[in-house]
Amino acid sequence: MDIKNFTIRKLHEGLMKKEFSAVEVARTFFDVIEKEDKKYGAYLRLTKDAAFAVAEHVDHRIADGEEMGLLAGVPFAMKDVILMNGEIVSAGSQILSKYCASFDATVISRLRKEGAIPLGYTNCDEFAMGSSTENSSYQLTRNPHDLSRVPGGSSGGSAVAVAGGLAAFSLGSDTGGSIRQPAGFCGVVGLKPTYGAVSRFGLIPMSSSLDQIGPFANTVEDAGIVFQAIAGKDPFDATSAEHNWSNVMDFDVACLKGLTIGIPKEYFGEGIEEAVRQELDFAREKFEKFGLKFKEVSLPHTEFGVACYYIVMPAEVSANLARYDGIRYSRIAENCDQLREIYFEQRGRGFGKEVKRRILLGTFVLSHGYYDAYYAQAQKVRRLIARDFEHVFHPSSDGGVDVLFTPVSPTLPFKTGEKTNDPLQMYLADAFTIPTSLAGLPALSVPVRKYVVGSGKLPVGFQLIGPRFSEQKLLSLGRAYEDSFNQL
Ligand code: GLN
Repeated sequence: MDIKNFTIRKLHEGLMKKEFSAVEVARTFFDVIEKEDKKYGAYLRLTKDAAFAVAEHVDHRIADGEEMGLLAGVPFAMKDVILMNGEIVSAGSQILSKYCASFDATVISRLRKEGAIPLGYTNCDEFAMGSSTENSSYQLTRNPHDLSRVPGGSSGGSAVAVAGGLAAFSLGSDTGGSIRQPAGFCGVVGLKPTYGAVSRFGLIPMSSSLDQIGPFANTVEDAGIVFQAIAGKDPFDATSAEHNWSNVMDFDVACLKGLTIGIPKEYFGEGIEEAVRQELDFAREKFEKFGLKFKEVSLPHTEFGVACYYIVMPAEVSANLARYDGIRYSRIAENCDQLREIYFEQRGRGFGKEVKRRILLGTFVLSHGYYDAYYAQAQKVRRLIARDFEHVFHPSSDGGVDVLFTPVSPTLPFKTGEKTNDPLQMYLADAFTIPTSLAGLPALSVPVRKYVVGSGKLPVGFQLIGPRFSEQKLLSLGRAYEDSFNQL
């Protein structure tokens, strides 16, 4: 049975009907990983002991006739920034190569409770800084649709794990696009939740006012199932929001027909590749046939998004990464006992080029004399960007749209090595995902068409953006697109 391509519901049904056991599911996926991942490089470390412990427990409960939730016995992969008790978690960095987590992230404890099977840790850009996974200090990860191209980043390994059939779903983190962009590049679904919807407790922080954990999945429904399991208030994360998510999986096609979809003109201007534009037109026509109305709107501060992000984010990075001093967490600086020497060795050797670049940038924009000119100014621009969105979603404004429809990325997946020497070009890859992050809004990345790996075609994703806590609407639209229109 080809369970590696099963949806969550199908896996659940098979497990409940005892067509296969959770231990068999785990074993099948580990076999596939062993065979296939050599060419992809999605996984950094496998968590076999934890996986089989959970799987055996699930099998016992099923044997006892217990009613199990949808995620019981479903195997998943985690980005290398999400803590799991007793496992090495390194954020793709040498500085944490020996760091062993001493507790579970809240998302992990929630998935454990559900009985989901943790297969292992996936590769990512160091401390989630990058758009191609090439900034990992461990290995390259390749796009399964074309091995000469990048999978996107920073959660590239998590996207590939799902696209390559090496996990039923995976977790990533998104600060400026790191779930949506790799999902688009790899032809899978990715959800960046509303800021505060999912607890960040146990997530190795990059930029705390932007970071959110979210799922990668084969289908929108699967992404919704995972999101519902991990979302909700957490006493360990003061920024997590009190919100009732019990209706998030409600799927009412009739309700969707009256929605108005906004097309922000700034997202369809210069710099978008022709192939991306054509695919977006294709998706839009499908939506129109379904009865949805489209309307052009403007988000006038979009062009300042990347510049604003590259001030706010490094400022928070410089503060967040100060903790890796070689005294706490783990020590890679050997044979030195003077404090100053330890700092130099640890941080000098432990961090890669991009991380150092951002720490320097962040320290600069926060420093006396520059704070007002850069950091304070960027905070004001951030507000303007958020206000653009509030305006178009406001019912009485000239926008008055329910959801926005945009490309995920301006380009197709690029070649490995193509942008590594040009950080600015790399940063621009996130021009369409960054504004949403700055505004704290939810956004869903859906493949325009599902290409089978090996078909020789490169996937393109569209992005649906909604007001805060509009996940149910985004997921419904995404599901309607998949169910009714998606052509294999
Ligand atoms: N690519 C963006 C960056 O390099 C976004 C990263 C992310 O979302 N973690 O910062």
